[in-house]
Amino acid sequence: ATPTAVMVGTGVGATQGVLIKGGQALESAHKVNCIVFDKTGTLTVGKPVVVTTKLFKNMSVKDFYKFVAAAEVNSEHPIAKAIVDHAKNIIEEEQNHSFPEAKDFVSVSGHGVKAIVQNKEIIVGNKKLMLDHNIAISVEAEEVLAEAETMAQTGIVVSLDGEVVGVVAVSDALKPNAKEVISILKSMKIRSIMVTGDNWGTANSIARQVGIETVMAEAQPETKATKIKEFQNAGYTVGMVGDGINDSPALVAADVGIAIGAGTDIAIEAADIVLMKSNLEDTIIAIDLAKKTLSRIR
Ligand code: ADP
Ligand code: MG
Repeated sequence: ATPTAVMVGTGVGATQGVLIKGGQALESAHKVNCIVFDKTGTLTVGKPVVVTTKLFKNMSVKDFYKFVAAAEVNSEHPIAKAIVDHAKNIIEEEQNHSFPEAKDFVSVSGHGVKAIVQNKEIIVGNKKLMLDHNIAISVEAEEVLAEAETMAQTGIVVSLDGEVVGVVAVSDALKPNAKEVISILKSMKIRSIMVTGDNWGTANSIARQVGIETVMAEAQPETKATKIKEFQNAGYTVGMVGDGINDSPALVAADVGIAIGAGTDIAIEAADIVLMKSNLEDTIIAIDLAKKTLSRIR
């Protein structure tokens, strides 16, 4: 694109809350025929809430949440925040919300957390985290997890001293326009793909709800980037839309990285385009604008 076209394109983008960081971003955006979407915080609102608690041992819900919150209060993950908020409601009047002390807290990225609380080892996270600690998941726990997944919820397993004591299901609502955005992209002959660190069951349920056919779940940040390179090698010009620190390698790997404005600073820095209003549909505005800008000078 000529410098003038780039100026006009980025200028129009700016008035619409679409920050385009230069000519290369416009060039790539106009050729995009495949977009990889992060799930949490991109297709979903990113503010999960606890919807179900299932306990398997003789333990009160209050005691259970004291242990879980004691560990999770040290985590920055949105799921941890959901669990701590819920725990505060359950424990309420007692103790003025102060949870027991947690020692030896460890955050296992993409899997969960562990700590020592009241001399017991507590582990809170996905199935993989339990398997990595040789903790058996009972049939009833498996059933609760499977049920959560079919409802597009994420089941979090809680173990105390090596024994699964409960499962917490959290739900993160879809963005209201997610389905429409995917369907408009389809009409523009742009293929949509979803990548997430969440489990396969939940990921597939969400993908079905928004009309995405290709899913990559249980993905570490580097895996998200690898997936993008695979599609590039298959001949696609790939856009990536994400909001998290864990999306930044993928945002860099993509031909056009598109960050949600409300996302983390690291994602915004890694991206070529920033959706300042945090509206998912502005992905389409950005591509449209790139197409118009480049066709005007052809
Ligand atoms: P996402 O791509 O959805 O942001 P992450 O890679 O951050 O996923 O995490 C993947 C999965 O690991 C989560 O869906 C959850 O099951 C588990 N997990 C991560 N952090 C925590 C936590 N603090 N507490 C419980 N589970 C967690
Ligand atoms: Mg995210």
